[in-house]
Amino acid sequence: MEELTLSELNAALLTVCDRIIENEPMLTELDLLIGDGDHGTGMKQGFTKLRDLLVQTQFTTICEMLKASGIELIKSMGGASGVLFGSLFLSGHELIQNRETLDADTLIAFFHTAAMSISARGKAKPGDKTMLDALDSAVTAMQNAARQSKDMIVVLKAASIGAQEGMEATKGMLPRLGRAKNFRDDALGHPDPGAVSVSIIFEALYEGVQNFIEKKGNDKQYGAM
Ligand code: ADP
Ligand code: MG
Repeated sequence: MEELTLSELNAALLTVCDRIIENEPMLTELDLLIGDGDHGTGMKQGFTKLRDLLVQTQFTTICEMLKASGIELIKSMGGASGVLFGSLFLSGHELIQNRETLDADTLIAFFHTAAMSISARGKAKPGDKTMLDALDSAVTAMQNAARQSKDMIVVLKAASIGAQEGMEATKGMLPRLGRAKNFRDDALGHPDPGAVSVSIIFEALYEGVQNFIEKKGNDKQYGAM
């Protein structure tokens, strides 16, 4: 599978919404440890609105869907993290204008652009213990995987594992930005909540695409109900 279609990406984004919404208590708990405890509710609010938008809107292009998703998160989450998580889906939209499908290189360029934009907006560098550590690690893992294979399942699986590793690495980092900075050494041993959200997002993108393909295979085999 060398390309992602609009309906596959739509299914993947719906899975992302479901996974973020169901992990609200865990994200809240993590942000209570090294932040102000609002990360879970903010994410749940944004991704609930995004879910509604995805269900109600018949998008005609991938670009339109990702751009609208980013804007919806910025609008509904508010605050600094709304802009940062919105940028994850919004910043790369110019790269995918007029594309009917997404291939591995385009997907990687899309998230690479998002990482640069998030870093520019939040002034975060790798190692600052933020969402960027998980995102950077996901992008690097995708780049490495794509040197061997352009299969989207392979690349999305690499992104999921890379994001998870980047998130795990934040446990050993001292926070240098945002509210977590005030916790200094007490933040050691705890993952950055935004990095946990990014790892949930990439895991769900992988899961969503896989489930969609499996379901399509079953429908073909048994006839769609
Ligand atoms: P807030 O920090 O306003 O309470 P949230 O709790 O929703 O917002 O989000 C916190 C997460 O946002 C952090 O765990 C971190 O990953 C991310 N974050 C905060 N500030 C920055 C920044 N300047 N650059 C990148 N990411 C940031
Ligand atoms: Mg917070």
